[in-house]
Amino acid sequence: MKVTEGIDETLRVLAEARRAGRTVGLVPTMGALHEGHLSLIAAAAGECDFVVVSIFVNPTQFAPGEDLDAYPRPVEADLAACREHGVAMVFAPTEAGMYPRGRTMTEVAVDALSGALCGASRPGHFAGVCTVVAKLFNIIQPDKAFFGAKDRQQAIIIERMASDLDFPVEIVVCPTVREADGLAMSSRNAYLSAEQRSQAAALWGSLKLAERMIRESRPPAAEVLGTVRRFLADEAPLGEIDYVQIVDPQTLADVETTERRVLVALAVRFGHARLIDNVVVDARE
Ligand code: AMP
Repeated sequence: MKVTEGIDETLRVLAEARRAGRTVGLVPTMGALHEGHLSLIAAAAGECDFVVVSIFVNPTQFAPGEDLDAYPRPVEADLAACREHGVAMVFAPTEAGMYPRGRTMTEVAVDALSGALCGASRPGHFAGVCTVVAKLFNIIQPDKAFFGAKDRQQAIIIERMASDLDFPVEIVVCPTVREADGLAMSSRNAYLSAEQRSQAAALWGSLKLAERMIRESRPPAAEVLGTVRRFLADEAPLGEIDYVQIVDPQTLADVETTERRVLVALAVRFGHARLIDNVVVDARE
């Protein structure tokens, strides 16, 4: 497994792989790899010959006061996991390597989708994500890039960016990997106390409840949201709801009815940990 830090070196390794006729699959991550990331690596390995994992805790997607400094960076364990799972190359640039002239003057932003849901409490977050992912697409030039459904808004925004800007890459969205009690795996789960951790399972519990209600009787969105909020208040009293919304999965605009394909998405804070989860439901299916 090659581990590269510099862009020139990365381009050389990739040129060699392409000369050998290999298709390239990219899994962008911020490291602290868990089963969720490994499922993306497995999907990439199933569809592409040469799997590249990027590991970069991108400072431009963190707002001041967020957990940039606290974010876990277990480099050796991450490299070992990649090695074990057949990754061909890990691209792990430094901040100066990724942003040699300081922050970019150019920004890629999918404005129409970036103010909703997580964007409301994380201004600038998705522009930071899009800009770094656009850079990664240009550096790695993957045939396919793999993203997790846990970060559904991110996946929707990246799909739109790739399509709007004609990036020659196929975006593959993989299912959320969960702990035994349903909590979506996340590097940020490590911030939870034992009590917060046990209550955090209620996020998925509340989404399953919403899905069941929608499938059974397609009630107005407001009714589903009321039930989800009450469930979270009862089952996760240590959690503070950032948002719970039912939106159109393409435009991310709030919807009133659940008689269509909808995205139920939520973010809940437990102390310093802000956890997100979502489910897409189409009651007609
Ligand atoms: P991160 O390192 O948190 O930026 O995540 C890197 C990629 O892994 C993103 O595409 C995430 O959506 C994906 N991911 C994170 N957690 C999970 C999970 N539990 N299941 C599936 N994919 C995930």
